[in-house]
Amino acid sequence: MIRRNLTLLGATGTIGMNTLDVVAMYPELFRVVALTGQNQVERLATQCRQFKPRYAVVLDESRAQELRHLLADTETEVLCGEHALEEVASLPEVDTVMAAIVGAAGLKPALAAARAGKRILLANKETLVMAGRFFMQAVRRGGATLLPIDSEHNAVFQCMPDAYSGDLAAHGVHRILLTASGGPFRTRPVETLAAVTPAEAVAHPNWVMGRKISVDSATMMNKGLEVIEAHWLFNARADQIEVVIHPQSIVHSMVEYLDGSVLAQMSNPDMRTPIAHALAYPDRIAAGVPRLDLPRIGQLTFEAPDTRRFPCLALAYQALAAEGGAPTVLNAANEVAVEAFLGHRIPYPAIAETLSHCLERLAGRTAGELADLVAIDQEARLVAEAYIARR
Ligand code: NAD
Ligand code: MG
Repeated sequence: MIRRNLTLLGATGTIGMNTLDVVAMYPELFRVVALTGQNQVERLATQCRQFKPRYAVVLDESRAQELRHLLADTETEVLCGEHALEEVASLPEVDTVMAAIVGAAGLKPALAAARAGKRILLANKETLVMAGRFFMQAVRRGGATLLPIDSEHNAVFQCMPDAYSGDLAAHGVHRILLTASGGPFRTRPVETLAAVTPAEAVAHPNWVMGRKISVDSATMMNKGLEVIEAHWLFNARADQIEVVIHPQSIVHSMVEYLDGSVLAQMSNPDMRTPIAHALAYPDRIAAGVPRLDLPRIGQLTFEAPDTRRFPCLALAYQALAAEGGAPTVLNAANEVAVEAFLGHRIPYPAIAETLSHCLERLAGRTAGELADLVAIDQEARLVAEAYIARR
């Protein structure tokens, strides 16, 4: 395997820490060039001491000062600001970029990596939801390689034919089956969902994740975002992407072929598996993940999602069908609504209501260029905030 030089965007998050776990096992294979974080300066400083990157990036000057102080006796140079994120994502000495910032904030640095032709390990699904067309275009034009980290898309990638060209029919693929755990509220009586607390919503049964994606998993907005993500990654139409609830989270997704074969990728629910897969691709490395013990698991079950319980999933299909700026609106409104829910400003069902309101209010917005999408994102945030403030 060739040695890789890494920038890790969002190093202090769940994906970032899992990535460093794998990287730490192979000091001869991976050199960390840059690590970035937002608020957790102490964690970032500890990571810098261990991995000795050339650069560490934070967003604002006061945090940068703090970090410089903590790293005063090291070789790591501390940079600051959004522009610095783009800079470390496109450094000539870097060949691989892990894009693991959460939310729309991850878009610009991921685009910078695409334009610079990097090998991009994409965890930040919001990039594809918000600006899929532009991002995929930047990947093609920049000659970048895209490897999905999201466990479902990584699974689909593994079940796809080698050298997949972007044409499902040409490869005999009938459809993509994305699995979903159903989250913490899969069996909770629908009429009690109004009383759900943020603590209950972030307590995912199978995965340990950041707070935003945990709430997204509870509402199944996460799966909705992933349907849109799959659309862009695999050039699949909405009717070629189906969601199946699979509460054990062992089958991470499937690809169904015309001849009736269904290929699935299975593993314990541990993000180090897709991370190690993408880090080493096309080789394989151990990820420190416990072996799958099927007799102990005993049963793998599947059920259809109930869109009455999970209206966000239906809204995502609706946004994908509407095209234009609708997925951008959905993503931005969702970020605002989830934040408001986590801050106890709105009850759980109001997340879906906010999205629905914003999609209706901003229907028909189109985007000729990336700047239009950034404007639509901003507008959707304002509309969502206003709706939340007066409800
Ligand atoms: P997290 O909240 O644990 O970490 C987010 C990271 O982004 C942190 O390093 C934080 O400092 C950084 N960050 C946050 N806001 C920022 C901003 N405005 N500017 C720059 N940096 C910022 O999130 P996570 O669970 O690690 O998820 C990261 C991404 O990966 C998300 O897009 C998520 O949807 C995706 N993802 C996560 C998982 C998972 O298991 N955690 C699985 C699949 C996909
Ligand atoms: Mg996922």
